[in-house]
Amino acid sequence: MGEPMNKAVLDFELEAALRAREPLLWLNPRWQSAQNELPRLSLDFASIKDAEARLSRLAGVLRHCFPELSSSGGLIESPLLAVPRLQSAFAARAGKWFIKADHALPVAGSIKARGGIYEVLLHAETLALEEGLVSASDDDRMAMSSVASRKLFARHTIAVGSTGNLGLSIGVMAAALGFRAVVHMSADAKEWKKERLRRLGVRVIEHAGDFAQAVAAGRQQARDEPRTHFVDDESSRALFLGYAVAALRLRQQLASADIAVDVEHPLFVYLPCGVGGAPGGITFGLRHVFGDHVHCFLAEPTAAPCMLLRLAAQTPAAVSVYDIGLDNRTEADGLAVGRASDLAASLIQHLVAGIFTVPDDDLFRDLYRLECTEGVRIEPSAAAGFRGPLWLETSSARAYLDRHALSERLPHAHQLLWTTGGAFVPAEEYARFHATGCRLAHTEEVRSERLR
Ligand SMILES: *Cc1c(COP(=O)(O)O)cnc(C)c1O
Repeated sequence: MGEPMNKAVLDFELEAALRAREPLLWLNPRWQSAQNELPRLSLDFASIKDAEARLSRLAGVLRHCFPELSSSGGLIESPLLAVPRLQSAFAARAGKWFIKADHALPVAGSIKARGGIYEVLLHAETLALEEGLVSASDDDRMAMSSVASRKLFARHTIAVGSTGNLGLSIGVMAAALGFRAVVHMSADAKEWKKERLRRLGVRVIEHAGDFAQAVAAGRQQARDEPRTHFVDDESSRALFLGYAVAALRLRQQLASADIAVDVEHPLFVYLPCGVGGAPGGITFGLRHVFGDHVHCFLAEPTAAPCMLLRLAAQTPAAVSVYDIGLDNRTEADGLAVGRASDLAASLIQHLVAGIFTVPDDDLFRDLYRLECTEGVRIEPSAAAGFRGPLWLETSSARAYLDRHALSERLPHAHQLLWTTGGAFVPAEEYARFHATGCRLAHTEEVRSERLR
């Protein structure tokens, strides 16, 4: 730990900057066109459509479990918001800013509502089919909320390891269908997330270690228990596909808002990244939908740039941020991951445009700025992408913009900040974020005035 990595593996300057926790933008040297890359991957567009179809088939069951979904017909979806005041506050000129408001996703209050709930539904449907409670030849799934189904699910356990939000999403959905649920929480997990789960009757097991250790403990325990399904955030295809469905939904939303995505109107998307499943699945989906007209950038804390490290180092061995002397300590609990998912890394290694890093102070400044300008409240992790459009205006992005002939098209671009969590943050907790952000925003203004 803390030893320099093999220089042949990771560029020396990049490693030094990561070690020093300097915010930086890394451009992906192995970017590929959608046409070249997508046919080579082990998951395809049909697998996203299949996940979307399953979510439609099960919308009635979701509506039955969660009355708050009645207005959306059982779909868990978030709005697309124009944020002109936030854009002005950043004095950002390029393109037009939007937020994809996954911080407000119903049921789970975070982006994990997409992947987590999908995987629980898939498992439940599989069991119900095996037991003959529903039939493969008929799309009616309402029997999955019957007493007979609850009895079946009560004999089964769903387990997961999490830094908080995935546990919340899995626990809420599993409990609603009548499963037993066990959530292994890493040390980063916030107390209120554990409390919320305990109130639903979910068993919360606290671990002193980080995300990878909580996942390993959960995986091990699930292996020893009968009738237990472990939702593996480091390798689950179901989670990944549940996230990918967001791309199909976004396509519809952009079309209804008359927002074109084409060669003249590129779409830039900025996605907070932890283990890589959520931003990876969405990137995968978006490259299927918009090909080379969409440019997906991931955002990671300076203390936990695990996907950057994984993709830049190009090593097949598991590489973690601890290997370069970082500590994975960040207030962005949703992103506190030391080692990226191999599944996500291998699927997106040629699809992402780049990855940038963000110090915690900027997360607080930006969540504060968002509330001041647009009245929207998010958790720190969800602000990770906000500096993305600013990076595009720096020389660090030049090579990418040139390669894709984007410089002259930036004025017509749409800039999409994906906010990933926050709706359920308790008021006292949010007040603390707000106060921290307010104090830090002020120090940043003073600093930039001195520079002028
Ligand atoms: C989990 C999470 C992410 C990132 O998702 P990964 O699949 O871990 O990369 C981003 N933001 C929030 C709030 C999250 O909970």
